[in-house]
Amino acid sequence: MDKFDVVIVGAGHGGASAAIALRQAGLTGSILVVGREPELPYERPPLSKEYFSGEKEFERIGIRPAAFWEERQVEFRTCIEVTAINAADQTATLSDGTTIGFGDMIWAAGGDPRKLSCPGQSLPESTLFAPAPMSMQCWLNCLMSIKWW
Ligand SMILES: Cc1cc2nc3c(=O)[nH]c(=O)nc-3n(C[C@H](O)[C@H](O)[C@H](O)COP(=O)(O)OP(=O)(O)OC[C@H]3O[C@@H](n4cnc5c(N)ncnc54)[C@H](O)[C@@H]3O)c2cc1C
Repeated sequence: MDKFDVVIVGAGHGGASAAIALRQAGLTGSILVVGREPELPYERPPLSKEYFSGEKEFERIGIRPAAFWEERQVEFRTCIEVTAINAADQTATLSDGTTIGFGDMIWAAGGDPRKLSCPGQSLPESTLFAPAPMSMQCWLNCLMSIKWW
């Protein structure tokens, strides 16, 4: 079983900032960030602005470039979810069935949007606004197809 000094759950802004802060504070131990999105941490605000207007490449909205994480030995496991935590023996189960050990854990998993529970929720124009770029594209396509009058 792999064991890390710190496991951060969530590779969003919160998780990335926690990893940066730990290294800035002088932590030399191992850090693993587990994220269910495929990408390394990226800024959400420019997604709906500069990225979709074509002003910025996706690589330019990363919170830090890939080399930054490598240099600071912050390890990532993406496309994977923490599905269970056993606080007593300091282990976490991942969605691929593996178990990892941790010294400390930081929970930076953000939040999921609540689904609408009103009439119209199943219309094709009604969709969850998930942040990943491909989901964003679907969302924008839906938005543009809505008749506002
Ligand atoms: C398009 C867009 C534009 C925005 N613009 C602005 C803005 O202009 N100003 C502003 O203040 N805010 C803005 N926000 C909101 C802001 O980006 C969020 O408040 C911020 O991203 C929250 O960061 P977070 O790390 O706490 O959570 P999140 O960004 O939600 O990151 C949490 C991550 O954890 C992952 N995760 C969850 N559970 C698990 C698990 N069990 N195992 C592994 N991974 C898990 C999630 O998939 C997610 O990637 C915007 C958001 C979006 C989507």
